[in-house]
Amino acid sequence: MANTLNLKIITPDRIVYENPVEQITAVARDGELTILPGHEPLVTTLGIDVMRFKVRGEEEVAAVIGGIMEVGTSEVTIMSDVAELDVEIDEARAKQAKERVEAEKTQRTDKIDVYASELALSRAMARLKAAELGKLRKQRGGGIR
Ligand code: ATP
Repeated sequence: MANTLNLKIITPDRIVYENPVEQITAVARDGELTILPGHEPLVTTLGIDVMRFKVRGEEEVAAVIGGIMEVGTSEVTIMSDVAELDVEIDEARAKQAKERVEAEKTQRTDKIDVYASELALSRAMARLKAAELGKLRKQRGGGIR
């Protein structure tokens, strides 16, 4: 059995990431899920959250804004409307988005509007978490890209 899985993160606009990885951890429908080579095939929806993967022993981080993860025998494909690697995240923009949405949410009464605010807040939080984890990784001297 190979000791890597080919990870592909794709959005309608671009291939965000494509590389062999040793391990993938993502937040799926039923909670956090870690995929190692040899994992049984599955398809699951993903939350708006951070995903982590190991490349040559070093942890890499991305923000995945929902979507679907398909685990095959030798590859894992993540299809999402929007996803960013930690290094692509504009932290100041995510902070601004969080503050703006928190302020807007208090003004909103319509259920759909409140839900839209909650989704926007989740996107900002996922980006901030990914950027933070990415910085910690760099401080530890990790990261190969
Ligand atoms: P904002 O209010 O800052 O636009 P948003 O959550 O509404 O945030 P999305 O609709 O999820 O943004 O994404 C629109 C595009 O902008 C996507 O291509 C996404 O990758 C990019 N994007 C959004 N926020 C950031 C960020 N903080 N850093 C880098 N790219 C971002």
